[in-house]
Amino acid sequence: MESTLTARDRVGVQDFVLLENYTSEAAFIENLRRRFGENLIYTYIGSVLVSVNPNKNLEIYSKAHMERYRGVSFYEISPHIYAVSDNTYRAMRTERRDHCILISGESGAGKTEASKKILQYYATTCPVTDNMSTLRDRLLQSNPVLEAFGNAKTLRNDNSSRFGKYMDVQFDFRGAPIGGHILNYLLEKSRVVHQNHGERNFHIFYQLLEGGEQDLLSKLGLERNAQKYQYLVKGCCPRVSSINDKNDWKTVRKALTVIGFHEDEDLLNIIASVLHLGNTQFGEGENGENQITTEPQLKYVSKVGTMNEQYPPPPNTHTTHTHALPRRVNRELQFCINYCNEKLQQLFIELTLKSEQEEYEAEGITWELVKYFDNKIICDLVEEKHKGLISILDEECLRPGEPSDISFLEKLEDTLGGHAHFVTHKLANGKTRKVVSREEFKLIHYAGEVNYSVNGFLDKNNDLLYRNLKEVICQSDSQVLSQCFHREEVTDQKRPETAATQFKNSLAKLIEILRSKEPSYVRCIKPNDAKQSGRFDEALVRHQVKYLGLMENLRVRRAGFAYRRHYETFLQRYKSLCPGTWPNWQGRLADGVATLVQHLGYHPEEYKLGKTKIFIRFPKTLFSTEDALEA
Ligand code: ATP
Ligand code: MG
Repeated sequence: MESTLTARDRVGVQDFVLLENYTSEAAFIENLRRRFGENLIYTYIGSVLVSVNPNKNLEIYSKAHMERYRGVSFYEISPHIYAVSDNTYRAMRTERRDHCILISGESGAGKTEASKKILQYYATTCPVTDNMSTLRDRLLQSNPVLEAFGNAKTLRNDNSSRFGKYMDVQFDFRGAPIGGHILNYLLEKSRVVHQNHGERNFHIFYQLLEGGEQDLLSKLGLERNAQKYQYLVKGCCPRVSSINDKNDWKTVRKALTVIGFHEDEDLLNIIASVLHLGNTQFGEGENGENQITTEPQLKYVSKVGTMNEQYPPPPNTHTTHTHALPRRVNRELQFCINYCNEKLQQLFIELTLKSEQEEYEAEGITWELVKYFDNKIICDLVEEKHKGLISILDEECLRPGEPSDISFLEKLEDTLGGHAHFVTHKLANGKTRKVVSREEFKLIHYAGEVNYSVNGFLDKNNDLLYRNLKEVICQSDSQVLSQCFHREEVTDQKRPETAATQFKNSLAKLIEILRSKEPSYVRCIKPNDAKQSGRFDEALVRHQVKYLGLMENLRVRRAGFAYRRHYETFLQRYKSLCPGTWPNWQGRLADGVATLVQHLGYHPEEYKLGKTKIFIRFPKTLFSTEDALEA
């Protein structure tokens, strides 16, 4: 018989577990590509949602779409971020357990957009009592504000989040949102003073200059011209076609009001001061001391607070600008981000495997363990007490004598040399290796190899905001500034923790929070580097599929049983195929399903009956049943 192109061939399978050739990466990518070509950007791996950035607006986020996903089971309808939102919400309510949705992917893959879609879904579909509508608005309006201060145009994404975000929403017993928190991580502060070519500073600076009323700008001593500000000219792109700073300014001002931020004048003063500070020049005084040579800027900078304490200008400032800060800052940030990804991947492995295993156990089903790469070994390499990279770095920072970046590298070699995931230029036989320079070490992350230059590691690790500077900030007249730090943080006489340890601790806290909740995953993929719609760069996608661990995820999911359904759902859907169960099965659900599958001729190898669910090993079994339904 001539085979015709069925819908399944054209649009691929909506759940990767249904792929016949599920171990083939090529088949996986082909399935993604087909669906992407049909504007089907969402596909499941079981309950994990894979999303491919379309880089264009799709008509799939309307209120009608939201309604379609409300209360509908995952598998009965095409994959969507709303399905994940809805299932998570319903599971939270029925199981009375906290849930979390983890969104990952590289820059420009669509994480922020996904998180906004989820919030919009809750804001639209959750029950709201009158006095709660303010809360709902605040929830939604927190985004434009966070993005104004934390997002910037980069080469990879015109609206790149330069921080990590954890947001939680609390619901009451009726399922109405009653509160929320936002925690931020690792803001890329160095962007304030330096931007690479083709990139911008944080949006807020341009928004204020473009959109701010003339009165306001005069009061702040600002000119409506980004080119005048040292901190805004580095990247040589004050304007971006996809961004409307003037409109965004209006949105942000409104959002500030909605979220109840009443000190916005204070805030704008600070923003303006940063711009003035960037234009402040230091020169040499008559006696060779450092002095500020641009008085007018100073006037606006010091307006921010009662800075009545005297501060010496930075030492040795022959290079006349305050923004002569080193670029290397980004490299340590890179290290922290990779460490963070390593930890999140570990959590992902642990939870997906664990929950899979738990489900089989709970249902009384035996299964085979799947081998997978456990990246705990890399996490330990970085964070283990005494032996880990961070401990060694801290030790070197505290050591009397003359610790240096190079002595740090030597310590690393002594302690970690020979570790399977740590490489330096030295080989065991005394020879040297070219792929790593003398000032670098290489970590073999689960997602790939990264070389790190040790230059600046020690400085950066010690680089904490000076205590007395914090004190001054706490005493500022400015409401915003005075609340920047906790008093205890300033008065505490203990030695402040190093930057790396602070990060390690806050990451550990985050992981603890996530571990205490039932997770759902959204894995975002960027189809091309050009921010273009309709372009699917296979090599780029393959790389992401690899480091997001999607093939492993699929193997684990398939190792036991590709498909599982509650007896009730299964019976409801297929009962018409068997005279014994049609129109209604009166007995126990499990018996009904047993009758049904016997009638359908399922081989005992193909399925198992658990306590509440039927587990089906191969997708083709389900396909043929589906086909019978259509016939
Ligand atoms: P970063 O790590 O840099 O913050 P990100 O993963 O948060 O990146 P987003 O800002 O969410 O990436 O997405 C980048 C851009 O891609 C968006 O500004 C938008 O133009 C487009 N985009 C992402 N997801 C979608 C979507 N579902 N529909 C339409 N466009 C999208
Ligand atoms: Mg983002």
